[in-house]
Amino acid sequence: MESRNWIGGEWLYPSGEEMVAHDPSALQEEVGVVRFSTKDDVTQAGEAARLAQRGWGALTPAARGDCLFRAAGLLEASLAEVAELASREMGKPITEMRGEVMRGVHLLRYYAAEGVRAIGNVIPSNESGVLQYTKRVPLGVTAVITPWNFPVAIPLWKIAPALLCGNTVIWKPAEHASLTAVRIAELFESAQLPTGVLNLVIGQGHVIGDALLAHKELDAVSFTGSTATGMGIAQQCARRNLKYQTEMGGKNAAVVLKDADVAQAVAMIVSGAFRSAGQKCTATSRVIVERSVYEMFTEALCQAVNNIQVAPALDPGTYLGPVASAGQYEKVASYVAMARRDADILAEGGAAPGTDHGYYVRPLVVTGLDSSHPLIREEIFGPVIGVLPADDFEDAIRLCNATVYGLSASLFTRDLRLAHRFLDEAEAGMVRVNQETAGVEYQAAFGGLKWSSSHTREQGQAALEFYSALKTCAIRYD
Ligand code: NAD
Repeated sequence: MESRNWIGGEWLYPSGEEMVAHDPSALQEEVGVVRFSTKDDVTQAGEAARLAQRGWGALTPAARGDCLFRAAGLLEASLAEVAELASREMGKPITEMRGEVMRGVHLLRYYAAEGVRAIGNVIPSNESGVLQYTKRVPLGVTAVITPWNFPVAIPLWKIAPALLCGNTVIWKPAEHASLTAVRIAELFESAQLPTGVLNLVIGQGHVIGDALLAHKELDAVSFTGSTATGMGIAQQCARRNLKYQTEMGGKNAAVVLKDADVAQAVAMIVSGAFRSAGQKCTATSRVIVERSVYEMFTEALCQAVNNIQVAPALDPGTYLGPVASAGQYEKVASYVAMARRDADILAEGGAAPGTDHGYYVRPLVVTGLDSSHPLIREEIFGPVIGVLPADDFEDAIRLCNATVYGLSASLFTRDLRLAHRFLDEAEAGMVRVNQETAGVEYQAAFGGLKWSSSHTREQGQAALEFYSALKTCAIRYD
């Protein structure tokens, strides 16, 4: 497969650098060739998006929703094929990847149906004979910049509400999710999305990012990725007073209290930490355990982790696959080396046959570090967790909040009073009790506090607020 841009309804080969995409589960396998864009391609995409916006914005939301319904049906019909391509491109285990594609189908249907929801408020006027109300209007041309770790769901949770609200989109997917992005754009083409409404620009962030953010036709930016990149993008948008949202990194804690259901907590913490090889912004990466159950809990956790084996992503039984790319492998391997040097290793999973030629990292559980250590402080984005003992609930909350990030946090307890205190006091945008830190549903608001987010929200109704501007209207009728 070869990547192409989709700009103004045309499939075009950009003239920038090329990258051969290799399967992270089996590096000898080529998945395709990715051709990167130049700044000229970005210029062209912005112009196409501007040209299309007036017509698209003038359609009824229900008509725009019809396109999303058609795209949902096509994506569902292609579920197996899209999931396999994405698994081969970035290494997510196939069973998990199929679930992600289905989430994309649900997202498209959810936002399609929003086309006929009543929106706005009538506001009583202090003058008689005046009707005063709010309405929502499109922002215009929106740049959507996405990461590789959810190659289907994250793009769709931005593109679907952006389109439904009447915006046109320039989509720049991550380098290591480019081939999957082409397939998704093809499905939008088959869904008869009008020319220029969605424009796909395959490219390297450091090469075309500035041109995209400086594009004169741009009205808004929605970004998901690392905190370092996101903060730079926020600065660029603020200089131009563009509306923006940045969803960024996490260092999510799961807190286990002495009355927790240990079997439930272990299963959810293992899932939260090791599915997607720990490469979720909401992945559990710190486990804080009340001291009185520390021994019992860590024994059960270690037993579970020791039983996990890394295995190729396309094997339907695989729980933990490879990490996504050479860059990811080097970064995570450096943290594993740090753990071997500075930490006590509590548990380490194994490797199944066939994992000699891929970016496999065995799951690792470490302890003996305090909150200032890089392994406890920094986002690793790999299958490594640090366990910290806590004296009591107050100490656990203190440790949970001892991070610059604030994306997701979980508590395991049967004590309703402490559960409510945790939901109030944990400094995270998504707070959960007896649930894993990952897995927030598509109809619920998604986003973080502190350095994890620019404090807007994605998914659910919140996304519609981001992708539209509120107008206050007043009309004298007598
Ligand atoms: P990244 O920041 O390296 O890249 C994200 C996207 O930004 C890519 O498309 C990349 O090409 C682009 N980019 C890079 N430099 C740019 C620039 N100067 N201008 C414009 N675009 C640029 O992140 P990544 O490695 O792809 O993804 C992993 C990170 O994403 C992790 O930190 C993870 O926590 C975060 N993430 C956050 C959420 C969330 O909702 N909070 C969800 C998923 C992933």
